[in-house]
Amino acid sequence: MKKTFEYDVVILGGGLAGIYTALNLNKNLKIAILVKDKIEKGSSNLAQGGIAAEVEFDPDKIEEHYEDTLKAGSYLNDKAATRVLVEEAGYNIKNLISLGVNFDRDSNGELVKTLEGAHRSRRILHAGGDATGAKVMADLRATLAKQENITVYEDEMAFEIIKKNKKAIGLIAINQANEPVYFFCQKIVIATGGVGGIYKNSTNEKFAVGDGIALAYRAGINISNMEFVQFHPTGLYEEEKQGQRFLISEAVRGEGAILKNIEGERFMAKYDKERMELAPRDVVSQAIYREMFDTWSDHVYLDITSKSKEFLMKRFPTIYEKCLSIGVDMSKDLIPVAPIEHFLCGGIKTDCNGHTNLENVYAVGECASTGVHGANRLASNSLLECVVFGNRIAEDIKRSDLTIPDVEPKKHTVTHKMFSFHPIRSEIRDVMDKYVGIVRSEEGLEIAKKIIGRHFKNLSKTLVHSHYYYETLNMATTAMMIIEAAIKRKESVGCHYRVN
Ligand SMILES: Cc1cc2nc3c(=O)[nH]c(=O)nc-3n(C[C@H](O)[C@H](O)[C@H](O)COP(=O)(O)OP(=O)(O)OC[C@H]3O[C@@H](n4cnc5c(N)ncnc54)[C@H](O)[C@@H]3O)c2cc1C
Repeated sequence: MKKTFEYDVVILGGGLAGIYTALNLNKNLKIAILVKDKIEKGSSNLAQGGIAAEVEFDPDKIEEHYEDTLKAGSYLNDKAATRVLVEEAGYNIKNLISLGVNFDRDSNGELVKTLEGAHRSRRILHAGGDATGAKVMADLRATLAKQENITVYEDEMAFEIIKKNKKAIGLIAINQANEPVYFFCQKIVIATGGVGGIYKNSTNEKFAVGDGIALAYRAGINISNMEFVQFHPTGLYEEEKQGQRFLISEAVRGEGAILKNIEGERFMAKYDKERMELAPRDVVSQAIYREMFDTWSDHVYLDITSKSKEFLMKRFPTIYEKCLSIGVDMSKDLIPVAPIEHFLCGGIKTDCNGHTNLENVYAVGECASTGVHGANRLASNSLLECVVFGNRIAEDIKRSDLTIPDVEPKKHTVTHKMFSFHPIRSEIRDVMDKYVGIVRSEEGLEIAKKIIGRHFKNLSKTLVHSHYYYETLNMATTAMMIIEAAIKRKESVGCHYRVN
């Protein structure tokens, strides 16, 4: 029997972008949140460093946040969206607190702020020391659980938008039993997160493969800035480990850690004399890449031995524990690190209210391209983007005249086969790591296009109705979009570095 549901608003994604949008919508709306895996999974739960915001509403400080964001983004940012981001930061932090989020405070009850790369002042709020995402999300989920108008569907992967008269009227998801589930609704909010799972190594979970971006693309929605894939300079290096990798937060450098190559030489002065280890991520990742190349090595070191064990255990409890588990006591030992895929600056193109070019569809969070990150994201601006634009979408929906769509599930006839598509996934990840990483060349990108283009073509031709199939198709689609955008942009800018 066909499973069909009707909602006012369906939100794809239960990360910060999705949940925060849902919590800001009117309580009289019937809302569904679909998540591909369990709701506790996803990048928002992994965030360590914090959320950037000028909470004192000081215009000069807000202007500095604006300028730092543009500078980190190589001035390719959308200026209007960036203004919205920094100016509405303070309001949304207050709103998060009123929704139950507990940020770290000092003994006087004042919010504690830290520093990260390319921020000129301490403006990063955090929670649980270095467990910001886990704490913020747990607090928000507790609030969500009390909302009777919001239903969460776990293990439901959306794969297609249903359109009528050039408007979106619903979507189709696939459940764990590989059955199609139809959701008809008045508004869809895509908040499906990043793309790290299309790389062999990433800080993201493997299931983060750009599903929302791929399904938007199939629905004719505009996608932009896909070449700007950010590599975090300091993923924890573990020799044999592949897949999802642990991150050593930028806040560790914010608290004084320095980078050394395997010969023990501090090297950042060669690349950015002024900002050193606190240069933007693109500069630091490319510097580390160069040092690794010159020393025939696959990692460098982060040195925070200048700080006491007591300080580190209190300020970075998660990172301290993780390092210890692999035999590294960060108060005494150097931490081996290497750059790793981390964040997508581009995605589904939106305006400042989260609208896409398809009526009734919004996008928010890492899958969206609001333009605030330009060619490279400023640290801790992505959680901020989730809340600022999530709130704007909620406000926009409140202003909309909601009309009930014409419910008419279309017939979905496709083959059922339990292929794992493993060889294709594995090849996509290898190719993305090898040719579409920190350093890119015309030749490498063309090789990647040929290999992944072939998979994309074959997968598009052979429709198989299964979770694995759609995920693999989405991987190929997202990868193709990144490669094509990277081929088009000939110059090096931000996190897109071309050697030829
Ligand atoms: C290790 C790590 C540390 C980070 N630290 C920071 C930090 O300190 N500060 C900062 O600002 N940013 C940080 N980031 C980046 C930031 O966490 C993310 O950009 C942000 O949380 C993205 O939120 P989101 O809601 O867009 O996506 P996510 O939190 O990733 O959520 C995506 C959701 O979409 C769902 N989904 C995916 N596909 C589908 C589908 N087809 N159908 C239905 N549901 C789907 C998933 O199940 C999930 O619920 C960090 C990222 C990582 C990985």
